[in-house]
Amino acid sequence: MLPEKQFLNRKYVVVGSGLFGSVIAERIAKVLNQKVLVIEQRPHVGGNCHSFLEPETQIEIHTHGTHIFHTKNPRVWNYITGFSSFTNYQHKVLTQHGNRVYFMPISLATINSFYGLNLKPYEVEAFIRKESASANISEPRNLEEKAISMVGQPLYKAFIREYTTKQWGMDPKLLPADIITRLPVRMNYNANYFNDLYQGMPVDGYFKLFERLLSHPNISVELNCNYFSVRELIPKDCLVVYTGPIDQFFDYCHGMLEWRSLRFETEIKPVQDFQGTSVMNYADSEVPYTRIHEFKHLHPERDKPFSFPKTVLYKEYPTARLDLAQERYYPVNTAKNQALFLKYKDQSSHSNGIVMGGRLGDYRYLDMDQTIASALETFETKILPRKSA
Ligand SMILES: Cc1cc2nc3c(=O)[nH]c(=O)nc-3n(C[C@H](O)[C@H](O)[C@H](O)COP(=O)(O)OP(=O)(O)OC[C@H]3O[C@@H](n4cnc5c(N)ncnc54)[C@H](O)[C@@H]3O)c2cc1C
Repeated sequence: MLPEKQFLNRKYVVVGSGLFGSVIAERIAKVLNQKVLVIEQRPHVGGNCHSFLEPETQIEIHTHGTHIFHTKNPRVWNYITGFSSFTNYQHKVLTQHGNRVYFMPISLATINSFYGLNLKPYEVEAFIRKESASANISEPRNLEEKAISMVGQPLYKAFIREYTTKQWGMDPKLLPADIITRLPVRMNYNANYFNDLYQGMPVDGYFKLFERLLSHPNISVELNCNYFSVRELIPKDCLVVYTGPIDQFFDYCHGMLEWRSLRFETEIKPVQDFQGTSVMNYADSEVPYTRIHEFKHLHPERDKPFSFPKTVLYKEYPTARLDLAQERYYPVNTAKNQALFLKYKDQSSHSNGIVMGGRLGDYRYLDMDQTIASALETFETKILPRKSA
């Protein structure tokens, strides 16, 4: 445990060294020119964006699954490129159904290949409309009906039904329709997963990006330090920026917010290239995992690891989060959980000296760019004004 003197005269403590906490710490250190202590319960910084080099192959592994940086937001891009250069990697996702591989999201390539057709872009919309109209669903009551009403039975059964069942551990008939607002169908052969103007991978890795984010001399980082073991030592007039789970902060007094978790199984294969791409989805129920990540494809420009005669895979298995030790990955966005979250949110608005944020504090799935945008805004609206108050 940290000695009490570490907290003496502290004005700023950030709980969590994920992207949200690290951006806040960097702003406090640089813009306010104030000392800030970051406490992190894990043995490393970076939160779920953490990565490391696998010792034998030197392939960069993303501990919590593939992370691609992408954004439409020039402000976020300008900010993050101050800490790393980015490659021009453009993400593509493929999915295996039966014995064949298709592009995701559903595109002209997927449709033509799946139906054995040669439709032209101007013919796709009418084709999909006809497919979905034949199901005759005017008011979808669940996720299955909603998806069928958007893309029709055959595409739904091939690419959505079993994948969704694996992902959420539930028959799509039992999932609310509003989990999906739209299913993107591309009318052309564009296979890029993201449409954002800015996209890429940190040239020398996420671990270096975090090293630079937290390198300001005003920042000190304490690893293996759980906030709940030291909270009594933090001075009452210190501002605490808490990026952990909001329900845990209040000792789960209204109940526990539900999350889906993931289990990753690592394999090192004695081949140079296992699947020819960084992420392959598995749409069918016979395959128990949803995706295989093959990290070397995220950095084809790194000659040595890319041509190394071995490759590192992660098989991704979605799971329920049945015990507290399991990681929280995806919030389960039901009305019940939202109502619970609002109770905690209301309680946090009455907590003096505490600012909450990040995906765990906001109980929200946030991409990295949204996390940065939210941290910058939180700094400007909730932390900066205190300085002049
Ligand atoms: C499987 C998966 C894939 C993803 N892929 C992408 C992608 O390709 N592109 C993209 O833009 N985004 C992606 N994301 C989203 C990305 O991971 C998040 O945007 C980002 O991690 C959010 O950062 P954060 O700081 O809010 O949370 P976190 O990264 O979870 O950081 C919170 C930190 O707080 C620490 N902490 C919590 N409680 C305590 C405590 N009591 N005491 C001390 N420390 C504590 C935790 O250990 C953690 O380090 C993905 C997410 C998942 C789940």
